[in-house]
Amino acid sequence: METISHRNVDERRKRVRRLKKLIVAVVIVTLLLLTVCCLLLFFKIEKLESRVDTIVAKKNNIEEFTSEEKVASSIVYSADTKTKEQWEGKDSEKLTKEEELDKTIKEKKVYLTFDDGPGQYTDELLDVLAEYDIKATFFVIGKSDEHSIKMYKRIVKEGHTLAMHSYTHKYDKIYESVKMFDEDFNKLSDLLYEATGERPKYYRFPGGSSNTVSNLPMTNFISYLNKKGITYFDWNVINGDATGKKLSSEQMINSVMSGIRQHDTSIVLMHDMVSKNTTVKSLPALIEKLQKEDYVILPITKYTKAIQHVKAESVK
Ligand SMILES: [Zn+2]
Repeated sequence: METISHRNVDERRKRVRRLKKLIVAVVIVTLLLLTVCCLLLFFKIEKLESRVDTIVAKKNNIEEFTSEEKVASSIVYSADTKTKEQWEGKDSEKLTKEEELDKTIKEKKVYLTFDDGPGQYTDELLDVLAEYDIKATFFVIGKSDEHSIKMYKRIVKEGHTLAMHSYTHKYDKIYESVKMFDEDFNKLSDLLYEATGERPKYYRFPGGSSNTVSNLPMTNFISYLNKKGITYFDWNVINGDATGKKLSSEQMINSVMSGIRQHDTSIVLMHDMVSKNTTVKSLPALIEKLQKEDYVILPITKYTKAIQHVKAESVK
């Protein structure tokens, strides 16, 4: 009798254990399924969001077409055998996502610019930008070593704007005469063309267009760039990494945030140099703060408002 009841108890225990195992298995499978579903939904949302952005940008582009542009483009259509649709298709294909945004968005635009590279931190800067899928602008100087050539290439390949900041960055040399400026300009332009296959279209004067260190009046060099069809960019916001003081990441970010609140278009001056590791370290937090406050971070394109201390059109 006793053995039978023992057997019964044993069997019941086994059944309970089996049931427990089953419940645990069901819970684990359910959790796994839920996780997979969440991940799938997340990717789907990401994809849809980027599609919505493109559609909105395209729609705004079409609305922005002025009647004058329409007249101009209709002349192009009639001169060409392609249909209007084909032209528009071709035209919209040519613009990158960033160019479309730069063309359509009118406020809260921030352009992160890095001067004086390539250097020790260029790779790290590019890694951070890639991580956040942000495009920036690099105003580079001339360096022909293997690492620098690799950096010029990487900047272009990853969709950033590669722009010029003089070959030597030596004020007394480049600003000595227009001839010297021209030599320096061509040397850098050729170097970057050889490295990347593209001629840069934008320039930043060492010291800015309003510097007081130049031997000749800066109007000489502005006139030179105007004739070449090169747009130069100064800045209206700084992170303070070239002020000579050792600033913390937080101070740099505060400097940028208080600057950008005063402009619709903010061109932020930063540096890509050996001594500027705080700039790299502060970048993730800066990007996150900007994105949280709905600022649009863009690389300089042909649609960017030229921020110039001395206006190009004021010089013949
Ligand atoms: Zn510089």
